[in-house]
Amino acid sequence: MSRFLDRCLQKTDAYTPGEQPRDKQYIKLNTNESPYPPAPEVINAVNAEDLGSLRLYSDPTCKVLKEKLSALYGVKPQNVFVSNGSDDILNFAFYAFGRENGAVFPDITYGFYSVFAQLHGVEYSEIPLKDDFTVDYKDYLGINKFIAIANPNAPTGISLPVWQIEEIVKTNPDNVVLIDEAYVDFGGESCYKLTEKYDNLLVVRTFSKSRCLAGGRLGYAFGCEELIADIEKIKYSTNPYNINRLTLKLGEATVDNDGYYMEKCGEIIKTRAFTKAALENEGFTVLNSDTNFLFAKSNRISGEKLYLELKNRGILIRHFSKERIKDFNRITIGAPEEMELFIKAVKEILYGEKK
Ligand code: PMP
Repeated sequence: MSRFLDRCLQKTDAYTPGEQPRDKQYIKLNTNESPYPPAPEVINAVNAEDLGSLRLYSDPTCKVLKEKLSALYGVKPQNVFVSNGSDDILNFAFYAFGRENGAVFPDITYGFYSVFAQLHGVEYSEIPLKDDFTVDYKDYLGINKFIAIANPNAPTGISLPVWQIEEIVKTNPDNVVLIDEAYVDFGGESCYKLTEKYDNLLVVRTFSKSRCLAGGRLGYAFGCEELIADIEKIKYSTNPYNINRLTLKLGEATVDNDGYYMEKCGEIIKTRAFTKAALENEGFTVLNSDTNFLFAKSNRISGEKLYLELKNRGILIRHFSKERIKDFNRITIGAPEEMELFIKAVKEILYGEKK
């Protein structure tokens, strides 16, 4: 750290992304990416002409992508915001809506919320999940602060029903409630339609998980026109061209091929059921998941040891050292054959069989 860094930033702990090692080929079950490639139409969406046109800036209004998203979800284009990954939108939202009254979010949730709060000098408190790792919606009623809730939550995988979200939104009319639906397509219930009824609800989504486009960096959000205009203002005050031309084209083709992605979500849900049952068979406690990952702990091996042993065998999962969840690991649902290899490796580790 240099002696010039702003004092607020000196205190900020940067987010630690999941490992992306390059030393060998791993089965990657650690960052909730999709095991499936984008739809063929998406892969073919970019041609030499598009590469040639990279000399020109991209469309800062993202008009075509917004129109396609609004048609797919039955909202108006002015109710849609798009940006460079949903992390970008979370960043803007903490900056725009958190500083005035402070923020709250669960103690076990997406690790970036506390980073953005620190980055922007937002005072925040973390509300403990219940013992069964669920969010108690009653803890958020009338709290009068900016609220961020991942629904389904990460890394637990558990979701809240829409009526409970509505209670939170309704009882905090003077603050923005941000619902992060990064994983909603894997079994959760979306609350985005409530944005027509409440002016304080911002629903954030991503192309990184169910749309197989993590490397493309594309996120979107739904909200009332004024709320969307507020975050547009931040985008236009920082980096108006923050989505590149190629990603815009890929995003448009993705929306055009929704059926492919819904089918892949169905596959992942099936593989999740297989993996959960197989882990439970080996004595694991596995939380119910509405996401493309499982959160599980063994009564025979510590979370850290299992993570390290699997890494030795070329399989990456995510371990968190936070006290309350250090016995658990988060396991992304990969392709069926990857999950079979994962279960086989887990059995070898538990029963001491040969590698
Ligand atoms: N929200 C949650 C809950 C996540 O787990 C992630 C992925 N790490 C994100 C948002 C950010 O996703 P992206 O920036 O790739 O859209």
